[in-house]
Amino acid sequence: MSNPFLKQVFNKDKTFRPKRKFEPGTQRFELHKRAQASLNAGLDLKLAVQLPTGEELNDWVAVHVVDFFNRINLIYGTISDGCTEQSCPIMSGGPKYEYRWQDEHKFRKPTALSAPRYMDLLMDWIEVQINNEDIFPTSVGTPFPKNFLQVVRKILSRLFRVFVHVYIHHFDRIAQMGSEAHVNTCYKHFYYFVKEFGLIDTKELEPLSIPSPQKKSCPHHPSPPSLPSP
Ligand SMILES: [Zn+2]
Repeated sequence: MSNPFLKQVFNKDKTFRPKRKFEPGTQRFELHKRAQASLNAGLDLKLAVQLPTGEELNDWVAVHVVDFFNRINLIYGTISDGCTEQSCPIMSGGPKYEYRWQDEHKFRKPTALSAPRYMDLLMDWIEVQINNEDIFPTSVGTPFPKNFLQVVRKILSRLFRVFVHVYIHHFDRIAQMGSEAHVNTCYKHFYYFVKEFGLIDTKELEPLSIPSPQKKSCPHHPSPPSLPSP
């Protein structure tokens, strides 16, 4: 394999989780293929995220959430050898943003954890949600739960934090592997998607918002790709 990005991916058994797949023949599989096709055709990402006429919003959102989880998990997997207890004792996005983990099990109160620990819990938690038939039903005709979008908002906010940490603390590694374009495209796609359907609060998006022109950009904190202001 000559592509350093792929090589890295396949060496990372530890963080390389099996992909959640869509069953062929189901409506959601068709939607997934359709979403992929518009991306492969080079369609403008901003247009590609729009709900196709006649499709159900929840189906469209479900397909994207699973797809983003698979892609972002893979991106983190490529840099995870450089994200350790030593390098990242606190899960953060620069000095200004610190993220604390909270769940319904061990960490009932928001708890400061190292980035690798936090990422592990985050990926596990999302995996449980998207494999839960009651939240992400796979059979056609099974309705989504009433709180579906609420769960999705939480998943996407947490996935966004992976981008924050990777961009601010591990962008050198991404650049070194030559995968900036790949990561930037994934981030743009994600950003347009959450904006299109209002799935993440603007405040939560702040760590990667474009710096004002007066501020000098810091070489250690590279800016994410230019995006239109929210
Ligand atoms: Zn890290």
